[in-house]
Amino acid sequence: MIKILIFSLLVTSSITAIAAISDSVTVYSSRKEHLIKPLFDAFTKDTGIKVSYLTGKGGALIERLKLEGKNTKADMFMTVDAGNLWYAGSQGVFQKVKTKTLENNIPAHLRDPEGLWTGLSVRARTIVYNTKQVNPKDLSTYANLALPQWEGRLCLRTSKKIYTKSLVASLIYHHGESKAGDIVSGWVNNLAATPNAKDSHVMNAILSGQCDVGLVNTYYYGRLVEKKPNLPLKLFWANQNTTGVHVNISGAGVTKYAKNPKAATRLLEWLSSTKAQAIYGALNQEYPANQSVALSSVVSAWGAFKQDKMNLSQAGILQATAVKLMQKKGYR
Ligand code: FE
Repeated sequence: MIKILIFSLLVTSSITAIAAISDSVTVYSSRKEHLIKPLFDAFTKDTGIKVSYLTGKGGALIERLKLEGKNTKADMFMTVDAGNLWYAGSQGVFQKVKTKTLENNIPAHLRDPEGLWTGLSVRARTIVYNTKQVNPKDLSTYANLALPQWEGRLCLRTSKKIYTKSLVASLIYHHGESKAGDIVSGWVNNLAATPNAKDSHVMNAILSGQCDVGLVNTYYYGRLVEKKPNLPLKLFWANQNTTGVHVNISGAGVTKYAKNPKAATRLLEWLSSTKAQAIYGALNQEYPANQSVALSSVVSAWGAFKQDKMNLSQAGILQATAVKLMQKKGYR
């Protein structure tokens, strides 16, 4: 009788242990539904863990997580740009997650050193040029676009956008504040027009002849040439003989007050897996963060490149300095 009781206790406790990984997880995401739903569906199919999600603007979701505090339903927060991920981390939104799987799947420069967030897809911010107006031999680095030869020929996105802030943060990281300031000054001098609101506008301005070169995230280029393959527009990989192309990430972290932290960690690990990473590339013409995954045919057609290995937490750490520097140099 006693034996039976002990046995049934053991069985009950092992069932509790299995149930400790919850069968559902809730995600707040600033990535749009069509970019995340196929991933979540595949995860549920693989693991049986259901994913509920809510999408919105990144900044608003961070505020919401702060307001909800311990009562939040979110187990994971997902957004784009290391600057935003770092800011969420600085606001206490995430908990530290360090696992062997994440360390094996995602290179260190694409992860927060403390383990608050991890990159899940990579986008490069590089030079785009009009093939009828520019000889690619004249292109080299971000700093080169500050030289007088580009006067009146450059289009840039507004300094208000996080992508610009992160790129300038990387210039400060590599060159120091003074040289980075000279580069930004040179860019401002070379502008053909007031900075554009969107990367797509930068490319349209180049195509309309307003300017000859600009800086864009690769997937915007991909979206445009997918619709119009014969445009006289090409990507040029910046800084190949120096620091490498400035890359950024979309990524995620487990929230500080997650009710289902194990399931959320499982989702994070799954998103870093070769299977999920291949889906990422197909959905938004981004590069896998997991370097063992083959590139999609679309992005591999743009050629291989060396990426900047700066740890992306620097994009957050140097963000305020970057904003001040751009203000000082008149980059609007
Ligand atoms: Fe974007």
